[in-house]
Amino acid sequence: MKKLILVVIVLLLVTNLKSKEMKFGAFYSDGIFTKKWVALTFDDGPNPQALDKILEILNKEKIKATFFVLGSNIIRYPESAKKYLEYGHKVGNHTYSHLNYFQLKKKKTPEEIKKILIEELDRTEEILKETINIKPVFFRMPNGFISPVVKEVAKEKKYVIINWTFGCDWQKNTKDQLVKKYLKNIRPGAILLMHEKKLTAEALPEIIAGIKKDGYEIVPLEEILGI
Ligand SMILES: [Zn+2]
Repeated sequence: MKKLILVVIVLLLVTNLKSKEMKFGAFYSDGIFTKKWVALTFDDGPNPQALDKILEILNKEKIKATFFVLGSNIIRYPESAKKYLEYGHKVGNHTYSHLNYFQLKKKKTPEEIKKILIEELDRTEEILKETINIKPVFFRMPNGFISPVVKEVAKEKKYVIINWTFGCDWQKNTKDQLVKKYLKNIRPGAILLMHEKKLTAEALPEIIAGIKKDGYEIVPLEEILGI
């Protein structure tokens, strides 16, 4: 009898873990840390200067990533935007024009910020619908800004907010420094933030090789979040 109860409890736990519902408005900056795995995310694209190389590397390594795109860049490079889906990656909303909400917060009321943010998300949503016919589930704020308003908007607009565990490719680095810094910050459940930049694309093969050498798996964002 005791054994049976134990089996039932374990089964319940397992099904519960597997069927974790997508909670809109939820905020994550790390994934599940009980496994040696990490997820890759790339921001601010599409940028044709770096995207093709990044896609080629990920494809070779059979890695699926999430790209947080700007509506303003999709308008500029619609053909590049189509490649995300062709290569089997996920696309997230990174707003239309990458406003600095840390600055806006000093000048605007939360209601005004809410209005601006909704416009920025909607505009990108419309462009994504027209260009690649998707409505993203993931959303990342410019500069990782977070506030009760952001969570409210995410919930209303049916988004899950994603920040990151580590990222540094917007700072001044050489390729070797980038590789070193990313590999130093690998840990179970890490969500890595990178950008569609030339130098990042150059460092990517070594970063991936290092992650794998340390015994980590590179998995899609939804997998590391368990949703
Ligand atoms: Zn950004």
